[in-house]
Amino acid sequence: MTDRHAIVILGIFVADTAFRAPRQPAMGETLLGSGFALGPGGKGSNQAVAAARAGGEVHFISRLGTDHFGEMALEVWRDAGVRPAITRHAESYTGAACIFLDEASGENAIIVCPGIAGTICADDIEAQADLIRGAGVVVAQLEQPVAAAHHLLRLGREGGARTILNPAPATTLPEGMLALCDLVTPNESEAAALTGLPVHDPASAEAAAAALRERGAGAVVVTLGAGGALYHDGAVTVHVPAVSVGAVVETTGAGDAFNGALAAALAEGMDPVAAVGFGNAAAGLSVTRPGAARAMPTRAEIDALLGPL
Ligand code: ADP
Repeated sequence: MTDRHAIVILGIFVADTAFRAPRQPAMGETLLGSGFALGPGGKGSNQAVAAARAGGEVHFISRLGTDHFGEMALEVWRDAGVRPAITRHAESYTGAACIFLDEASGENAIIVCPGIAGTICADDIEAQADLIRGAGVVVAQLEQPVAAAHHLLRLGREGGARTILNPAPATTLPEGMLALCDLVTPNESEAAALTGLPVHDPASAEAAAAALRERGAGAVVVTLGAGGALYHDGAVTVHVPAVSVGAVVETTGAGDAFNGALAAALAEGMDPVAAVGFGNAAAGLSVTRPGAARAMPTRAEIDALLGPL
């Protein structure tokens, strides 16, 4: 099964349940809140939705429970055109996040329970080995166990796919894992956590990118929020500015919009610096809308901004 346009993304889905209230309840207290929203989340799932809406042929590897939130995940992927490469399990639940939103400050406090997705392992990757070996691009983040991401990158590299690691949330990586990555895409805090270097602007991002290359990464993109992204591959260093298309409403999921669209662009054969510009455009559109997965722009919207590619 060789389909060099295929994008294979590993990751987790969680149902985000967001509660707005004047303050956090004390232990033993019940508090009346002022708002509630239920929405799809999980970095990998959000990136899969972003990549599919940006025009990619996306296969998503994960685990779901046999519960209502599992059905919600399937519906979100069906709407976006993501092809599930998943298994369903009755012994645990589909992941969920409890998000407390302070109604005055907008700040949040979150509990995430990954549920069955916390048990994703190398077996889930082996089950999709043909798909992975034939893919054009493979993508992992670090919300599921790192061993599964490591195995995906190994099989992707063996098969000749372009391998992307979005090291979020930042964690200690096993020896040799960065050397399996054609592209590593941390944000500022993840780049700092991985390298021990402060990262706050394009120059410091370049220093962190160089440090990650010394540990084996092929190329590095450090995303810099409203500051855009810094691409560095040893030979070429380019700061690609962010794309501003209106008032910023919500930046949750900006990195996921960026990574998904980047993967879609690379699967089409776009050169990496142009693909970073494409990712910035998709992410710039996403921050003008509420929600994460729901905010991912369509290919038509990205083309309208950049002109057809
Ligand atoms: P994360 O969401 O993972 O923390 P960043 O904050 O670095 O990642 O954002 C990822 C990308 O989203 C940036 O590289 C940029 O293209 C885009 N982005 C983020 N914030 C803004 C903003 N305020 N205006 C325009 N684009 C933004």
